[in-house]
Amino acid sequence: MLNIALFGPPGAGKGTQSDFLIKKYNLYYISTGDLLRKEMAEKSKLGMEAQSIIASGGLVSDEIIVQIIEKTITENHGANGFLFDGFPRTYIQAYILEGLMIKLHTSLNCLISLNVPEEVSVERLMNRGLTSGRSDDNEQVIRNRLNEYNEKTLPVLQFYRDKGIYIEVDGTREIDDVHHQITSIITNELSKSLFNIVLFGYPGSGRGSQGKALAKHFGLEYVATGPMLDQEIKQNTPTGKMIKELYENGQLVPDEIVVQLIEKKIAERKDIKGFIFKGFPRTLVQSYILDGLLQKHHSSISQIIEIEVPTLELISRLDARSKTDSCMPYDSSTAKIVKRLQEHESKTIPVIEKYNQLHGVSKVDGVGSFNEVFERMVKEIEKGK
Ligand code: AMP
Repeated sequence: MLNIALFGPPGAGKGTQSDFLIKKYNLYYISTGDLLRKEMAEKSKLGMEAQSIIASGGLVSDEIIVQIIEKTITENHGANGFLFDGFPRTYIQAYILEGLMIKLHTSLNCLISLNVPEEVSVERLMNRGLTSGRSDDNEQVIRNRLNEYNEKTLPVLQFYRDKGIYIEVDGTREIDDVHHQITSIITNELSKSLFNIVLFGYPGSGRGSQGKALAKHFGLEYVATGPMLDQEIKQNTPTGKMIKELYENGQLVPDEIVVQLIEKKIAERKDIKGFIFKGFPRTLVQSYILDGLLQKHHSSISQIIEIEVPTLELISRLDARSKTDSCMPYDSSTAKIVKRLQEHESKTIPVIEKYNQLHGVSKVDGVGSFNEVFERMVKEIEKGK
């Protein structure tokens, strides 16, 4: 997701710049001012409460803003990204935005501040008042709006300076010039943001082979926890020695070890466009870990795909695999195969259900030749990009 907040005093040109940004980057536009005007036009309870405050140029309470913004965001959680105009306008709202982004497993990429001196704002708003039909575009109210901006909204900038995602643009330039400045900021943001896919499916559904091929095709890094653990053992690292001991005692590898390995992989990334995770997260706990790890690196899950294969087909595939050279130790007997399928059913299906509610999980039919499934997968990923 690409999430941007446009910041600046009234009249800085946020609305004008938003028009082109939402088209160019296919973003969902959220202007709290527009949402409030809609509530007022519908004479809703919220609209009636906000009316007199807006008319005087004051700021509507954070409680009202939470209600209108939460509703809009959750109704559009599948969007490519959000463009916020006129929000956050208070320090509290900056925290509210953080919380909302976490809820959607995403984060704000940057806050772009359109800087214009006060007199330019006043002049622009007075001109706009001639045609906008907005009763708050008159000099007295404009002055009040600017006072509110200086007092309550400017401190918001510090929040984003501290986070290191605050970027300034000279808003007094020509509209096209401002476009260009913003476009180059966003291009830079997009090159930083990772495209992360989580691949689900029962054992035998082809996650491994498809995941590797897809990683190659899209220039992503394939992250499979099983082979990562094996590699540590092979390289005889201190972690490898611990894993080996656990394996030998028939114990599960604790999440702490898996987390360290994935964390290392994410931190080491260089010139990587994103990751494909396979075999992780396997449990609800691991799903929280993955969210936290990505968040720490200013990233999030971009797409979740589940490869669907009927159970009988899975069993016959796993059985066939148990008779080949590439047989994994855990594929070697019917009892072990059944155990793995049951593990997936009881531990991983709840994870898929959780993600389905939060982000939506794309289902891909995993029956057919490798190439047929691969083509379906590529199509699904292209759709989500
Ligand atoms: P705008 O269209 O963004 O200029 O907003 C018009 C008016 O709506 C403002 O002067 C405020 O009274 C109110 N408003 C819009 N967004 C917010 C917000 N995030 N917090 C508080 N009040 C807001």
